[in-house]
Amino acid sequence: MKPHVLVTGGAGYIGSHACKALSEAGYVPVCFDNLSTGWREAVKFGPLEEGDLADRARLDEVFATYRPVAVMHFAALSLVGESMQNPSKYWRTNVNCALNLIEAAIDAGCLNVVFSSTCATYGDQDGVVLDENTEQRPINAYGGSKRAIEDMLRDFGASHGLNSVIFRYFNVAGADPAGDIGEQHVPETHLIPLMLDAIAGKRPALTVFGSDYPTRDGTCIRDYVHVSDLVDAHVLGLKWLEAGKPSRVFCLGSGNGFSVREVIEASRAVTNREVPIVEGARRPGDAASLVSGSRRALEELGWQPQRSDLSVMIADAWRWHQAKEYEY
Ligand code: UDP
Repeated sequence: MKPHVLVTGGAGYIGSHACKALSEAGYVPVCFDNLSTGWREAVKFGPLEEGDLADRARLDEVFATYRPVAVMHFAALSLVGESMQNPSKYWRTNVNCALNLIEAAIDAGCLNVVFSSTCATYGDQDGVVLDENTEQRPINAYGGSKRAIEDMLRDFGASHGLNSVIFRYFNVAGADPAGDIGEQHVPETHLIPLMLDAIAGKRPALTVFGSDYPTRDGTCIRDYVHVSDLVDAHVLGLKWLEAGKPSRVFCLGSGNGFSVREVIEASRAVTNREVPIVEGARRPGDAASLVSGSRRALEELGWQPQRSDLSVMIADAWRWHQAKEYEY
C-alpha cells in the first residue's frame, strides 16, 4: 500500500501543487483543509478531509483513519498586510492550529513534519543576502507567527523526538506546467496574479506599493521561486526525514532578486501586452529586499530547480490565468 501523507492546506495554492508532487512520487496525499481559502476543485490527487485544525477531535479521527507517515503543514493565514491590521487573528490561528496539529501528530505516533515557513521571519535586513544562519527579526505578525511555529517544532523535537524539515520560502510564483492547478486567492494580494489581472483587463491597474525604497529602482526586491520547484523540495524533505536524517532548516529561493518594476517589465515581455500601473504608497510590513543566498537545499537535499526563471514563472502563471477553472 502507498504511504499516506497528511497535507494541511492541500486545497490551497502551494498545498495543491505539493499533493500533485507527492502523488507523482508514490505517496497518497490526504488533503486536510477547511476550504476557507482553498478550492475543492484543486483537490485532485488524493482524498479531501474537510476539517479545521482548531478541531482536535477531527484531527485525531483523520490521523487514525490514514496513519500518515508524515505531515506537510501548509495551512495558515499568509497575508503580510492583513497581519499588520489584525495581528490577533494571525497569532491565534497560525500558532494555535500548529500546536493542535503537532500534538495530534505526536499522539498518533506520526513524528515527521515538513513545515512551510517564510523569509518574512527575517524581517528587513538592509539588503543582506539571507540564508539559514541569518538572524530572524520579523517585522510583521505573519512572520512572527511562523517563527513561533519554528520554535515550537524545535521544542517538540527535544521533548518528543519530533523530526522536522522547515522550509523558509521566498516568493512563490508560477503554476503547474501541465495546467492541472494554479494560483487563485480571494482576495488576491500577490504581485504576479494581480499584474496578470491588470494585463487581462480584470482590474483597472496594478498599484506599485512604494517607489522610495533604498533599492536600485526604488521598488521592493523579491526572490521568486517556481511553485513546482518548491514542492519538489518538499518531497526531498520528506525523504530526508524518512531516511532518519536530523531536523533541518532550508531556505527555498532562486537566489535572484527582482524589483517590482523588473517583474512588470518581464510580464510585459512574456505576455506582449501593456501593464497598466499606478504608483501607490508603501504597504505596511514590507521589507525592502528579500533575497536568498542559500545553497543548502541544493547541496544537502539535491534540490535542482528547473523552472525558477522569472519569464518561465510568469509564462506558466499566465497560461493558468487564461485557463483557470476555479470559481471566483
Ligand atoms: N506589490 C505591489 N503591488 C501589489 C502587490 C504587491 O507593488 O499589488 C509588491 C509588494 O509590495 C512586494 C512585492 O510586490 O514588494 C511582492 O508582494 P507579494 O504580496 O506578491 O508577496 P510578499 O513579498 O508580500 O510575500
